[in-house]
Amino acid sequence: MNTAGKTISARTERIRKDLEAMAAFTASPGRGMTRHSFSEEDKKTREYIRARMEEAGLSTYEDAAGSLFGRRAGKRADAPAIMIGSHFDSVKNGGDFDGPAGVVMGLEIARTLHEHGVETEYPLEFAALVEEEGARFGGGLYGSRAMTGRVSREQLDTFKDRDGISAAEAMHSFGFDPDRIGEAVRPKGSLKAFIELHIEQGPILEAEGLDVGIVKTIVGITQQEVEILGRPDHAGTTPMDMRANALLAASETALFLDRAAREAGEGTVGTIGRMEVFPGGANIVPGRVFFTVDIRSVNNEKVTGLVSSLGAFLKEMETKHGVRTSITEKITVAPVHMSEEIVGLFTEEAKKRGYSMRSMQSGAGHDAMIMAGITDVGLVFVPSKGGRSHCPEEWTDYEQIAKGVNVILGAVLSLAGA
Ligand SMILES: [Zn+2]
Repeated sequence: MNTAGKTISARTERIRKDLEAMAAFTASPGRGMTRHSFSEEDKKTREYIRARMEEAGLSTYEDAAGSLFGRRAGKRADAPAIMIGSHFDSVKNGGDFDGPAGVVMGLEIARTLHEHGVETEYPLEFAALVEEEGARFGGGLYGSRAMTGRVSREQLDTFKDRDGISAAEAMHSFGFDPDRIGEAVRPKGSLKAFIELHIEQGPILEAEGLDVGIVKTIVGITQQEVEILGRPDHAGTTPMDMRANALLAASETALFLDRAAREAGEGTVGTIGRMEVFPGGANIVPGRVFFTVDIRSVNNEKVTGLVSSLGAFLKEMETKHGVRTSITEKITVAPVHMSEEIVGLFTEEAKKRGYSMRSMQSGAGHDAMIMAGITDVGLVFVPSKGGRSHCPEEWTDYEQIAKGVNVILGAVLSLAGA
């Protein structure tokens, strides 16, 4: 991006330093990153990020949900802010990049603007969000949900960690007042955009040898639970044609879902990730099977279509195997589209810098998906080595992160009016 005639860029070395420093704040040294929200590791990471924000001239504050922000004033003091960042919590035994790469993107943009004395019309807010993974209290996307008014005071009591500590108690012991959770809500019109960088968590960018992925859509998702009731009988004395085998019906359904998702196209995916067989004896015909169904697509009609054909298939199984079936919806989220303006700015900047890129869909949910409820959003992916994520092997080269930062830097300067 040109400011006063010169292109300013992120520095890989500083990105490396931040990510290496943050990687040390884990509850499971040697076994990947475990950084749950409102933990000792959270505190250390938060202090580190806050110090870097202040060095970059930002005024820091925490919102009522516990997320950390650094604000950079714009020439137009009361103009809506452009928010930039990601989350800094992790799953259990996860990696060092899922989340922090996007937080460090924000820090590096703040530093770059600071060292070049860039002034913008619009204020900028650099975000380090909490509990995106939901690894401690379940649910997830908590920092962004709180900003969009999707966390209630009651939920803070209901959501508990494995030690029985509620989110409200954890917040309280961290110095936050759960009764004020409503104050985390960003008033309508207070944000001009939310921009996130995230590791891809999939194999596409690396396989195609590309620098950056510009996300156009975050997939819609539905999760359902299916129960099939057959009849538990003796495995030795019940003839094959006199059984009501719930597992046979479940197995056929698994094959059906795989086939139907492939046929749906547009990158639609369908997964049975968990299955339990009852009573679970080697010599008993399975009388009951429980399994989960996860269906995702950028095209909402594919999602609803698959759910209804799954329902019809289960009905066929009832007749074929003499079982009863039921299907229960657990969660459904519609696909979210990124701002075309921001996608255009990313594309232009990547082209200008000679980076190779492609447009992508995100198969995973991100804070940007929630923030889309209140503002324009943009999301840039950087390559994940081997497509690995949520594991200690998770890796993205620092140079690749720097390229993603530069793409966002260009877009931010345009949006913020540098
Ligand atoms: Zn993440």
